[in-house]
Amino acid sequence: MPLTVDELKQFFGGREEEITCDIQILFELESLIANYEKELKLNHIERNDELLNKIKEEFLIKRIKEKVENCRGCGLIYADCHTQKVPGEGCTLAPLMLIGEAPGYEEDLMGRPFVGKAGQLLTRILNKLGINREKVYITNIIKCRPPNNRDPLKKEITACSEIIEMEIAVINPKVIITLGSTALNFIKGDSSIIRDRGKWIVYRNKIPVMPTFHPSYILRQHGTSEARVKWQVWEDFQNAIDKARELAPDYSYK
Ligand code: SF4
Repeated sequence: MPLTVDELKQFFGGREEEITCDIQILFELESLIANYEKELKLNHIERNDELLNKIKEEFLIKRIKEKVENCRGCGLIYADCHTQKVPGEGCTLAPLMLIGEAPGYEEDLMGRPFVGKAGQLLTRILNKLGINREKVYITNIIKCRPPNNRDPLKKEITACSEIIEMEIAVINPKVIITLGSTALNFIKGDSSIIRDRGKWIVYRNKIPVMPTFHPSYILRQHGTSEARVKWQVWEDFQNAIDKARELAPDYSYK
């Protein structure tokens, strides 16, 4: 859940110039909630947590989409293959966040993350582990498709980092799963996906992160290698989901 206004004020007291986009969004969210509660009080209506969560969720999704929509941060927006930007999607109140690399062909066409073959595999993995895809938050490190699905360049990742950092800050998940090398290296530079997958790391001294392979990597494997990689990814997801359930026991993934 987002930080409270008091926590934000305590942290930023006297250093207003450091108030970033995500902090502004959280302030706006707090004032939205305060207005909602004031209205309830005025009308002698009891607080409705379900409705409040819906208001929060819609507000955060809208602000994330606006942030992505307004971005002109790098040249990918002018690439011939560019159809549209692909913001993250899912539940902004989710304890579990999944971060991939970049949109591919289908994602660029549909404007949604992880909807191609790799995305379908990801959805199947989640479903088999009892997770409804809509109940987690899924995004990519960069929001525009690189030409020929090449790896994102360092300057593109840097340009887009404000958005992913904002997403992590406002969603404030309990656990993150990174999919593939780009997302892992965004969280912890100089990492190797082969060496470091399956080993917990921490984002900003706060959020536990489980690195695993990108589903497209599984799709490129054959024979015994395919079976091994599938098993490794399964194990990593299971560990991450167990931790997310432990840290947010009341959240329903159904
Ligand atoms: S990839 Fe990111 S930084 Fe580049 S234009 Fe798209 S949204 Fe902006």
